[in-house]
Amino acid sequence: MEKKCKSIVWFRRDLRIEDNPALAAVARDGTVLPVFIWCPKEEGPYHPGRVSRWWLKHSLIHLQQSLRSLGAELLVIKADTTLSALLDCINAVGATKVVYNHLYDPISLVRDHNIKQKLVELGIEVQSFNGELLFEPWEVYDDNEQAFTTFNAYWEKCMNAQKDPVSHLPPWRLALAEGAGMNTSVEALNLENESEKSSNALLGRGWSPGWSSADKTFTEFIEHHLLNYSKDRLNVGRNSTSLLSPYLHFGELSVRKVFQSVRMKQLVWKNEQNTVGEESATFFLRAIGLREYSRYICFNFPFTHERSLLSSLQYFPWDSNQAHFKAWRQGRTGYPLVDAGMRELWATGWIHNRIRIIVSSFFVKFLLLPWQWGMKYFWDTLLDADIESDILGWQYISGSLPDGHELERMDSPQVHGFKFDPEGEYVRQWLPELARMPAEWIHHPWDAPLSVLKSAGVDLGSNYPKPLIDMDLARDMLTEAISVMHGKEAAGKAAVTDGTDEVVFDNSEPHEKVAVSKAVAKERKPCPASSSHDQRVPSMRNANSMIQNRKRPNPGEDGRVMKDNVNSCNIDKQVSKMGDDDLCSTAESSSSKKVMTNSRISFSVPQNCSSMSTGAPYPVPESSDHNDSWHEEVGTEEMSSKNGTSNLQISGKQIIHEDES
Ligand SMILES: Cc1cc2nc3c(=O)[nH]c(=O)nc-3n(C[C@H](O)[C@H](O)[C@H](O)COP(=O)(O)OP(=O)(O)OC[C@H]3O[C@@H](n4cnc5c(N)ncnc54)[C@H](O)[C@@H]3O)c2cc1C
Repeated sequence: MEKKCKSIVWFRRDLRIEDNPALAAVARDGTVLPVFIWCPKEEGPYHPGRVSRWWLKHSLIHLQQSLRSLGAELLVIKADTTLSALLDCINAVGATKVVYNHLYDPISLVRDHNIKQKLVELGIEVQSFNGELLFEPWEVYDDNEQAFTTFNAYWEKCMNAQKDPVSHLPPWRLALAEGAGMNTSVEALNLENESEKSSNALLGRGWSPGWSSADKTFTEFIEHHLLNYSKDRLNVGRNSTSLLSPYLHFGELSVRKVFQSVRMKQLVWKNEQNTVGEESATFFLRAIGLREYSRYICFNFPFTHERSLLSSLQYFPWDSNQAHFKAWRQGRTGYPLVDAGMRELWATGWIHNRIRIIVSSFFVKFLLLPWQWGMKYFWDTLLDADIESDILGWQYISGSLPDGHELERMDSPQVHGFKFDPEGEYVRQWLPELARMPAEWIHHPWDAPLSVLKSAGVDLGSNYPKPLIDMDLARDMLTEAISVMHGKEAAGKAAVTDGTDEVVFDNSEPHEKVAVSKAVAKERKPCPASSSHDQRVPSMRNANSMIQNRKRPNPGEDGRVMKDNVNSCNIDKQVSKMGDDDLCSTAESSSSKKVMTNSRISFSVPQNCSSMSTGAPYPVPESSDHNDSWHEEVGTEEMSSKNGTSNLQISGKQIIHEDES
């Protein structure tokens, strides 16, 4: 049979065969050249950390073997620019088409858009597909066609959607486009330095990257652990949750498959009147929903990697204390549960969601460190490091989301220790210096009688640190910081009322910020030359015209009002805002709108800081008052309001507890 066309399948974070829409689309169409392009320069500050690169390496080897057994060869290329690598591949095999699955993080959105624009200009057909989500972020809006800013409302809308997610069958065989003749060794990508190999070897004991392991892990979970997920997910022990996050991040497992399988279980349990099972499936689907929501937030509010979704945080007086930051990273804060979590993170590249919430809340609420620093550190050290989920998590704990923890909420690591690690086993595992502390004192050794410390071999300030900051003092400092924040916010408002200031500036960063209203995501009219599958991008508007036309946001009127940064999302002199007609497919953008040109990556996040021993290479803001504002969180399972007891609330506000169910 004569083949109709030659296509490049561009793999990114969709390292699987099953339900891979881009692969499925070309498999039946002609010959294919599957490629993976490693281009660290384009990742900017979001260059993957050691453990994440380790995972990627092994997952690529696995995918390469799988594609080989289907008849094709995965070409892996290390390149200076993705575009040049793609063009080389196109020329080598005479391809006329490039296909890939969508990504939604701020770096990929811009890079993919520019690449598509260039390829279309060169006469190459480009098709993109939804391979990573149940619902595209531009498909779910409220009744006024505004983007949701609370998870429950978003998820309810998703669950009532008329359109069901559709899966794609895996190809039986692939016909390889001949002629590439380039290096195909994953080893040559240098994803793993020599110096990293010994540490990485330990990762292989606990984790097995690749889509077939993803399948096995998922099957094991659904058969044996899903039933009790609603109860078990709150235990900080290793097997209480699915452990699917790295697989889902790298696209080794189709989220549609996960959703459909869990939904089937839910129906079976419902018919059997198994309420425990039914509730567990609901909780697990909500967890999957949080992952969807993280993409939704990043797409519809594309500056959330650097600023809060709530505007008042821009005035928060963060304390850019490098010594505190280092102590937190090294697990030497003097709070055992926090320290155990940070040591586990460093040693294994993974921690339970509960521990993520505890260590990140401590970072923001006790140390008043800018949440973006913590977010970047997680990005550097997690196996499942995922920009969107990381952003959502840090925004959630730091008072940046309308439905996350309130800024005033201050949880005690000591209380949480007794709640989630009552016998102190978790602490003992990760802090050998406290191994002989009795359970009664293990979460607050500073209160222990001298005789107890002595017989446990603990010398506070010597072999285990004294608390970095006293809890009462931390509470007072947080209260003070919030009051400073409110004062500045009021002054900012007064300045606007006076007409002396129309724009709110974020003093955390050296570049100009522009106030924008709540993002409104709505496609007014179909984009010409676009297909329904196309990746959408937030379109860009001239920053100056927005400044002139826009009133300063009124936080009292709508907590979701936010400002934007002209440099975010790498748009020089342009600002990103999704208005009524702001969403376009990349096809339209490529062919007609000349927007987002001359873009560059410009993020205000700190540089890589994954080395524990070398101090903190994070930039010190010019003033402690700098407001790297906006922090965030991932607390996910729990974006619902409940009453709790472990919360040291310092204001009378309603707060969200995630840990009491
Ligand atoms: C501060 C902070 C940072 C985080 N950073 C990341 C990150 O970089 N990468 C990451 O994948 N998750 C992140 N999370 C979310 C969550 O902690 C992990 O997804 C979860 O612990 C992974 O374990 P699991 O696969 O066993 O989860 P399960 O409970 O079994 O959940 C199943 C899947 O649902 C998704 N999910 C669950 N909870 C969340 C959530 N809160 N937000 C988004 N997706 C969720 C994940 O894909 C997860 O694999 C973060 C949470 C916090 C509080």
